[in-house]
Amino acid sequence: MAQLIADRRDVDFVLYEQLETDKLCKNKKYNGFNKKTFDMIISEARNLAIKEILPTFAEGDREGTVFENGTVRMPKCFHRAYNLFRKGEWTALTASAELGGQGLPMTAAQAVVEYFLGANYTLTLCAWSGVGAGELVEAFGTSKQKDLFLKKMYSGEWGGTMALTEANAGSDVGALTTTAVKNDDGTYSITGSKIFITNAEQDLTENIINPVLARIEGAPAGTKGISLFLVPKIWVNDDGSMGEPNDVVCTGIEEKMGMHGSPTCSLTFGGKGRCRGLLLGEENKGMRAMFHMINSARLIVGAVGFTNASTAYLYAANYAKERIQGRALENAMNPDAPSVPIIQHPDVRRMLMWMKSHVDGMRSLIYYGAHLMDMEELATTIEEGEYYQNLLSLLTPVIKSFCSDRGFDVCSEAMQVFGGYGYTKDFPIEQHLRDRR
Ligand SMILES: Cc1cc2nc3c(=O)[nH]c(=O)nc-3n(C[C@H](O)[C@H](O)[C@H](O)COP(=O)(O)OP(=O)(O)OC[C@H]3O[C@@H](n4cnc5c(N)ncnc54)[C@H](O)[C@@H]3O)c2cc1C
Repeated sequence: MAQLIADRRDVDFVLYEQLETDKLCKNKKYNGFNKKTFDMIISEARNLAIKEILPTFAEGDREGTVFENGTVRMPKCFHRAYNLFRKGEWTALTASAELGGQGLPMTAAQAVVEYFLGANYTLTLCAWSGVGAGELVEAFGTSKQKDLFLKKMYSGEWGGTMALTEANAGSDVGALTTTAVKNDDGTYSITGSKIFITNAEQDLTENIINPVLARIEGAPAGTKGISLFLVPKIWVNDDGSMGEPNDVVCTGIEEKMGMHGSPTCSLTFGGKGRCRGLLLGEENKGMRAMFHMINSARLIVGAVGFTNASTAYLYAANYAKERIQGRALENAMNPDAPSVPIIQHPDVRRMLMWMKSHVDGMRSLIYYGAHLMDMEELATTIEEGEYYQNLLSLLTPVIKSFCSDRGFDVCSEAMQVFGGYGYTKDFPIEQHLRDRR
């Protein structure tokens, strides 16, 4: 059978021959796993990704997300796939078992992530959005906040976002104008508008928890005066039950060139003066805390670039084995020679090898980033932990930008292998190229 999304042999090479991930199981933290269990988990993820999630990629693009009466309707086919994803407990791969996670090491989880992101990253990023925001709560929340939010966010029952960008505060986050005023009950009243917020409104989860950057009245200008707040779409009562809608309103979604299955939302907080948020971490230390999530998001953006490239490369390689066109080079002058699959033409092979070398290089780099996280986690001295943390800090923006840029280039080269057909909507490459831009 043709390989789809990722070549399992190449995944196994990086996992076991380059990084010797199975050796992590000698450590007490991971001694419930072994190579066999890793292989089983990856095979299950691959099956679900190919059978149930991959078909939603093109359909999600065609149907797109629809903004109607302040809500966003996700593509219909996303609902079934989302539920299968949740039921299979594929949301919190690396979180501890007490919090409902699988407790996998990052490196092994990366192989699972590769298949799901490669199948349909707009859907799986929505399923993981609660986990991304939940990790902020785990790192900076009070024990009460952890009790109220973590399990539901890690299980995918509640979604999440990261709400930084405003119309006049893009790259320059410190220019933001969303404000927070402390109330007598310890909550904060939030007022302001954000734009470009991914998954801030969708109909796959019953609640959405927004980590929002805002400035407390009187705080210094710039990033030094920014605090981080948890702002639920629907208020969460002290006993964990859902309360009233929290005056968080989606005012529209962007019409984008690609990523049509991913809603990019404009939000207003406190339009009626009734939006409340909970301080996450310390006042004026919000930017530092948010970087915890920004760095994870950077690694995910890199992984999306890479997995799109891997998927597009395999489509191109499979197509090149089947598309019959022209004669083999040694028979070029013989009009009676049979036509051959285009993979026999040296220039097509050159394109495929260029793509494969970049895909393999990106996989190696991204899994190495995950390996550094595992090494930091298992470090036995402070110095050792800092070494791995510093190396990962250096590589995080490299992974993000290199894999985004090369991911696009690989999709473009894949289109070339398909010739004119690649430019049509009959084949998936044009969607990969649009989305990857
Ligand atoms: C699909 C999509 C999803 C998104 N999801 C989210 C989300 O979930 N949450 C969220 O908060 N935001 C999100 N964003 C917003 C994204 O983070 C911003 O677009 C980004 O921060 C850039 O801001 P900007 O678009 O205002 O560009 P600008 O800041 O206006 O930048 C324009 C150009 O100028 C360059 N530039 C700006 N300042 C400098 C400088 N000092 N030196 C050199 N060059 C500079 C930039 O690199 C860029 O090329 C999303 C955006 C998109 C398109």
